[in-house]
Amino acid sequence: MTVLSGAAATDVGRVRQINEDRYLVGEGLYAVADGVGGHQAGEVAAQASVEALARHFTERTTEALVEAVREASRAVWRLAQENSERRGMGTTLTVLALVEQEGEELLAIANVGDSRAYLFQRGDLVQVTEDHSLVEELVREGQLTPEEAQVHPQRSIITRALGMEPEIEVDAWTLTPYAGDRIVLCSDGLTNEVTTEKIAAVLRQLTDPQEAARELVRQARTHGGNDNITVVIVDVVDDGGKAEQASEALAAEEAAEEAADHAADHAADHAADHAADHAADHADRDETVSVSRRPQPDPTPTPATATATATATRTRPAATATAPPAGGPERPRRLTWRVVLFLTCVVGVLGVVAASVAWYARSAYYVGVDGDQVAIFRGRPGGFLWFEPTLVDRKELSIADILPAQADELRVGKEEPSKADADRYVNNLRQEAAERRAATTTTLPPTTTTTVGGPATTVARLSPP
Ligand code: MG
Repeated sequence: MTVLSGAAATDVGRVRQINEDRYLVGEGLYAVADGVGGHQAGEVAAQASVEALARHFTERTTEALVEAVREASRAVWRLAQENSERRGMGTTLTVLALVEQEGEELLAIANVGDSRAYLFQRGDLVQVTEDHSLVEELVREGQLTPEEAQVHPQRSIITRALGMEPEIEVDAWTLTPYAGDRIVLCSDGLTNEVTTEKIAAVLRQLTDPQEAARELVRQARTHGGNDNITVVIVDVVDDGGKAEQASEALAAEEAAEEAADHAADHAADHAADHAADHAADHADRDETVSVSRRPQPDPTPTPATATATATATRTRPAATATAPPAGGPERPRRLTWRVVLFLTCVVGVLGVVAASVAWYARSAYYVGVDGDQVAIFRGRPGGFLWFEPTLVDRKELSIADILPAQADELRVGKEEPSKADADRYVNNLRQEAAERRAATTTTLPPTTTTTVGGPATTVARLSPP
């Protein structure tokens, strides 16, 4: 069962003497009326319209709501005809009602004039109604931009109102109520002063409908208050499990999509890749349509009594399509052929990187020291990442046989591009060591022995080569 909670706030504003706006917060019936006409006639028209609406809305259907609005218009028309001072009086009327259609509870919105109904859902504010005003018609015809309309001097001229003529056209929409949705009904005293973004900000901030309605009226006053301001906020407190059902339906739909994807994968394995692309693109398009929140044409017939009734339904909330409910189980991601291809590429790239690192670490040789012997190692001196150098060849050359500077270099590691180059380098060291030994033994000069009252001291002095 759908449960609604409504609250209202109204204010004369800072310029007008009389508040000619009226509102209705009833059992499943909410309305805003903005009266027009001199000599307090606007006040009378607005009051008469909401009273007649409440009286005539007895059967909870969209068609009955439209008819009740038309009855309200006739009531205002009759009042205007009875008193010459009230000729030409009229009123806007924007109504929200809880109705039933084929056993399902829906929200019906009916509108005449330039008061508005907005739907606030998951933080977004969308205008449901279309203004019957001169500037909005010019906007629809492309002769004015919405920004120009906002400040146009003739923006308060309305092209359709209750009571102006005996019979009027009524626009109507139906929405599926989801818990957390808010409907805002308001007179132009709000929308001429406060931007849609600021209205949305208040609705996000203040969850209590009464507080939110008061705050919106306060902001309209602060921004000028040039007209009467009226705001009705209706919260969908309970939707009778509709959001849950929508989620289940969505899950079923996605399961079907998944099955379709698997079929596409199968086809891709056996046929050309572009076939799978086509199937995936198609699935993507389906998803886009399913999350669309734009009103869709209502398949229900237009009420015979309304001469021009625009009806629309809303698809299930985008929220259930784009994110799981807070705390709810998250659906596992699908493993499609695209995911597999992506993972294969990632693994491939990682493999190439690892192979390059290994090649760099193991491709080189260096001449180093193993104990006190000169040796050849494979790898980088000191190792690279997790690749430690390995001993390849221990040479018959002691570190003591080579020059200190060369020994120091070998302790650090003397890199060579190949094993052959390393061998050549060690051979050179060995040869130099041999030459030095030969020089030492062949160029020793005759020793001079001096005895100074003690043991003989032998001084060997190397002569320059
Ligand atoms: Mg107004």
